[in-house]
Order: sequence, then C-alpha cells, then structure tokens
Amino acid sequence: MKEGINFVKKMETIELIQTLSTANGVSGFEEEVVKIYKETCQEIGEMSTDGMKNLYIQRKENQGNRRIVQLDAHSDEVGLIVQAILPNGMLRFLTVGGWVANNLSAQKVRVRNRQKKYITGVVTSIPPHFLSESERKKPLSVQDLLIDVGAKSKKEVEEIYGIAIGSPIVPDVECKFDEKRGLFLGKAFDCRIGCACMADVLDELKGEELPFDVVATLSSQEEVGLRGATVAANKVKSDLAIVFEGCPADDLSKESFMIQSAMGKGPMLRHFDVSMITSPEFQEYALEVAKKLNIPVQVSVRSGGGTNGAAIQKATGSPTIVIAIPVRYAHTHHGMVEYQDYLYAKELALGILRKLSNEEITTLIQPV
Ligand SMILES: [Zn+2]
Repeated sequence: MKEGINFVKKMETIELIQTLSTANGVSGFEEEVVKIYKETCQEIGEMSTDGMKNLYIQRKENQGNRRIVQLDAHSDEVGLIVQAILPNGMLRFLTVGGWVANNLSAQKVRVRNRQKKYITGVVTSIPPHFLSESERKKPLSVQDLLIDVGAKSKKEVEEIYGIAIGSPIVPDVECKFDEKRGLFLGKAFDCRIGCACMADVLDELKGEELPFDVVATLSSQEEVGLRGATVAANKVKSDLAIVFEGCPADDLSKESFMIQSAMGKGPMLRHFDVSMITSPEFQEYALEVAKKLNIPVQVSVRSGGGTNGAAIQKATGSPTIVIAIPVRYAHTHHGMVEYQDYLYAKELALGILRKLSNEEITTLIQPV
C-alpha cells in the first residue's frame, strides 16, 4: 500500500468503494447510487439531477463564464429485468447490458419489488444429478435461464412477494476488502470504482483555486448505450473532459504482448475503441503528467468497447480522455480491483487537473 495516505481518509475511501459497489443500480434504476453520491459530495458544491437520474455537481469554487472541464463516471451497473412470471412462480428475464449465460447460471440475485424492497432469488440451474452426459455438454443460453425466488405460483410472486413485470434485478453480492492484499472483491466495479475515484478527486480539490470551472456528472444508463451521458454532455457543454471508468482487465485472457489493462499495473488510458478516438493531444498530455509524477499507466487500443467519452465527444467536440481502473471479471457477479490501481488513477486525475492552465486548454481545443 502506498505510504502517506491519511488513515481516516483511507478508511473513508475504502468504505465508500464498498458501499458504492454493493448498492443496487441497474440501468434506469440508479437512485440508490445517486443518493449515496449526494451524501458523499454534499460539501463539494451545488448539485442537481434531471429526469434521467443524471447527477450534476458544480464545484463551490466555480465562477461561471470560464472554461468547463467535465468529469464523468456512470452510476448504473449491468443487471436483469423481469419480462414475465410463469404459472409456477419462476421469473423470465431479459439482460440489461452485456452478460453471458454461463456467468449467470446458479448465481444469487436481488429482485426489486413494487415496495422497492429487494428479494433474494437464484438464477436456475439443473443439479448434476438430473443431467445426462449430453445435457451437461450443451451450451447455455440466457433464454434457458429463469429466476427462482422460492415461490410456488404466479399469484404468490405477485401478491406476497410484490414482484411485477419490469422489476429490476441486480447481482446479490456484498463488497469485501482484503486489507492484506489491498484487494476489493465485489460486483459493479464498472463503474462504481470510477464513481468513487471521481468523488475522491473532487474531495481532494476542495478549496483549491483552478483556472477553469469543474462540473462532475454521475451519468445514468451507460450500459445500455451511453444514454445518460448523451443528455448530460448536451447540458454541461464542456470544453475538455475526463471520464473515469472501471475497464475489463485482460491479463488472464490475452497473449502477453496483447495485455493492455492488467490488474495491478496502474490505470489504463485508451487511445482508441469502436466508439471513440481519444484526443491524441490530450492523451499525450495525460501520459506526460503520469511520467512526471511517476505514476504507472497502461495504454490500449480496443476492437470493441465504448465509454461515456464517446457521448461527450460527439455532443461537444471536447478533447476527452478515459482514465480506467482495471477490473477482473467485469460484468459478472464477482469482480476484483486493486486499491493501488485506484490510488494511481486518482493521483493521475489530480495531477492533470492541477497542472492544466488556460493556455494549455486553448492548445488542446485548437490542435490545428
Ligand atoms: Zn463502464
């Protein structure tokens, strides 16, 4: 663990990461996350929300009529939604965001009922006793899976459990921190680890004068197509943007020369993915700051992916970078994040924000 972190502050940060990870917030139903965030950031400045549950935070030190640097992280997580209730009380569901069936089968979930209480259920799986040799080898698909909340009829699900068509569902996982290894284990680190990092950066900057205004957005519905960020970007109209993310770690699934977001090697700065070409000038600026501050970073070029950076860039034309903290097993029930990667991501964002001058912003927004 890096030295020099105030103990109280460190404990607060670890608790914040755990609270945000455990919170329920499938796309469209992010209110629990927004509420935690509002409490955490109440000293930062003025806050407001919109009809999509985007949260906007203006620093107290903002003056208006200055350039705007937007910080962003997304509040939603991948989850499921009830599509139909079967006569025997089982729930048929659709996925919200990217999932594969093998990662869902036999996992615990929480289903939100009409009273907004969460009810534990299990994604069905057939015990090995009842599977023939050929059935065991059959590939799974999401359409084969159901959720069992322990009811025996549709009536029971509706009347006693209060579950209805459209009820949102999240993985039932509580975040744990292993102090010895500096390791978080939990769900939804995409993007709650980014949410925590952004809050921490705002907190560190409290009372500091910067030559530009900072508006932070906690955007909704990223996992279903950057929907919240599209609205938020149009409102904020930033000049420059930094997006915080929890990105999938690739150190266990790629050849060594293709590893670009290993856990424990620092934040990842993405040059390119299918949705966005990072501003090469701003990216270079960020990498130079990292070098000067001795912060380890990784860079990547991705054939897939997509972040809120794309929505912001398309709405405003602002040079945008993505600072992503590697998450092992993203979009499953059980992810891992190294605290040290989080700390490096925070230091890098702070380093950039504290160094940026108005002249430099001018150069970045007028590269030619
Ligand atoms: Zn994400």
